[in-house]
Amino acid sequence: MAGAIEPEFRGARRRLVEALQDKGIKDLALLRAIDTVPRHLFVPPTVRHRAYEDSALPIGNGQTISQPYVHARAVEQLMLTGKERVLEIGTGSAYQTALLSELAAQVFSVERYRELLDRARGVLQQAGVRNVSLSLGDGSLGWREYAPYDGIVVSAGAPDVPAALEEQLAEGGRLLIPVGDKDEQMLTLFIKRGGRLERRDITPVRFVPLIGAQGWPS
Ligand code: SAH
Repeated sequence: MAGAIEPEFRGARRRLVEALQDKGIKDLALLRAIDTVPRHLFVPPTVRHRAYEDSALPIGNGQTISQPYVHARAVEQLMLTGKERVLEIGTGSAYQTALLSELAAQVFSVERYRELLDRARGVLQQAGVRNVSLSLGDGSLGWREYAPYDGIVVSAGAPDVPAALEEQLAEGGRLLIPVGDKDEQMLTLFIKRGGRLERRDITPVRFVPLIGAQGWPS
């Protein structure tokens, strides 16, 4: 990845990794991914100097790149080993997409804004990411073509679990989604066992709404 050959931000990135460890992130592969992915490439130039703060930042189209801690807490729940096929809903800046690409075999990511998706495509290429496929559309319907997925991570808040995502989750697979109202949600982990979803609450979060057929109306 480009981060490896760009020493300028390396110290800041290392300090972010340490801050996340202090906050309780333990997954070593994930911490290594955070240490590798050049987050500064994924944020707009106007906020680049803040790329390694543990905070959310604006990315355009009224959307935000989540706080690194939130990404870490979310991705950690997927317990990836490197062999999985993962579906991400809400590509946004594609920072989390890049983290997932380091931790899974293949990543499929859906975004509803063309502008964000085009930018994501460019930055992923710049960062040397190859195992990611991007799609423009309504991710509340999933991405049927490549289902089932071992992991699904939804980066926007939904009123409920979209039925399409439940269907496209593999047996034993993990679905992570913020569920609640438009302003506040519970980041929730669902594990499919015997064809049914077991539910586990992770942490309260505030995500932008999942707009779509099986999300909120636009
Ligand atoms: N992980 C991303 C999160 C971006 S915010 C990041 O940190 O950059 C959530 C994203 O979900 C936004 O880009 C928004 O446009 C997108 N989104 C919302 N509803 C969607 C839907 N139904 N399908 C696909 N993307 C959606």
